[in-house]
Amino acid sequence: MYLWDLWSRFTEFIGKDTQAENESKKTAVVIRILTLSFIAYLLIPTVFINVISAKGGFVLYLVALLAFGGIFASTYKFRTLGIFTALSVAMIIWIISFIYLFGWDVGVQHYLMVLLVLVFFVQYNNLRFKALFATGLCIFRIALYYIFCNSESLVKISNRENDSLQMINTIVIFWSISVISYIYGRDSQELESKLIAYNEELKVMANTDKLTSLYNRRKALEYIEECCKNSRDKGLCVCICDIDFFKKVNDTYGHDAGDKVLQAIGKVFRQEMKEKYMAARWGGEEFLLIFPETNGDSAFIKLCEIRRKIKDIVVTKDDVEIRITMTFGLAKYDYSGNYESMLTNADQKLYRGKKDGRDRIVY
Ligand code: GH3
Ligand code: MG
Ligand code: MG
Repeated sequence: MYLWDLWSRFTEFIGKDTQAENESKKTAVVIRILTLSFIAYLLIPTVFINVISAKGGFVLYLVALLAFGGIFASTYKFRTLGIFTALSVAMIIWIISFIYLFGWDVGVQHYLMVLLVLVFFVQYNNLRFKALFATGLCIFRIALYYIFCNSESLVKISNRENDSLQMINTIVIFWSISVISYIYGRDSQELESKLIAYNEELKVMANTDKLTSLYNRRKALEYIEECCKNSRDKGLCVCICDIDFFKKVNDTYGHDAGDKVLQAIGKVFRQEMKEKYMAARWGGEEFLLIFPETNGDSAFIKLCEIRRKIKDIVVTKDDVEIRITMTFGLAKYDYSGNYESMLTNADQKLYRGKKDGRDRIVY
């Protein structure tokens, strides 16, 4: 329990936001983990005992410890770009001194890869800066090779020391690059999936009527067009329907009660017009029903069922039961490639139904 407490305090300390305004906390956290890893690496006893006893080694380790410690502390106060620059300078000096003292074979030059990866994630640097930095690092790496590859190191270290340094350097470099990629990658993946979900939500919103949760006119037109293209000789019907005497509902019971009726109708349509059928709010208290791959008779049978269910709707307002009926105009597609005439036809039939007394299906 005590250890767990200590660990959560430590992670809280590492994850603390920077005091510098408008600065990336993520970059500060990454640099904290990196500098702490470098400090741990410098303190690894095997290296400590064997290498720092060599001349120059102790000074190099001490200076490096102080530099990385200072950079760690500065992440709580200063700006990312300054800290990144300090880290780069410290690492480059560290790399040159280490190679100069112990030779090319210990693999310390690979720490440049950590800087290369890091520069591409630090958000405050623009692309030109990143490209220049990467090119500079590349030239520096090549120059290092030509200067140090075949030259004698200042301090002679044993094969065992050489091997352990090579191994420790490799582990720390892999760890550092993994930390950088994980912390930055995790957020962008999270962000990406959030954006995908948000886009899906927007798409649904753009196609849906808020009050009834049915499709809206825009989506319905899109669907009719698609159905016309795919219908060939499979049949296609549409129905425009309108609530009878709806104005009276609003006038008698209020607009809210009217809205409740619209929602109840929306629910019936959603239940009845599933799968390939589509129901949309055509406007106000008018709805459009689309029956792809359906002949007129089948659509008519389906409409009879819907009409019955609409008549069964009961909306209560102050203990008063509100019931409604609807009039339906059903039209078939004539394969002319023009769905407008089918809609006009359905509308005319609806009008006729209204004129003939309402609460009916005109086919
Ligand atoms: P008819 O049988 O001839 O269709 O009679 P009606 O009273 O339904 O006549 P009309 O179609 O002209 O009236 C439509 C009414 O629908 C008028 C308008 O206030 C109401 N309405 C349209 N949209 C909404 C809405 O979103 N909510 C509510 N509560 N009422 C709406
Ligand atoms: Mg109307
Ligand atoms: Mg009406």
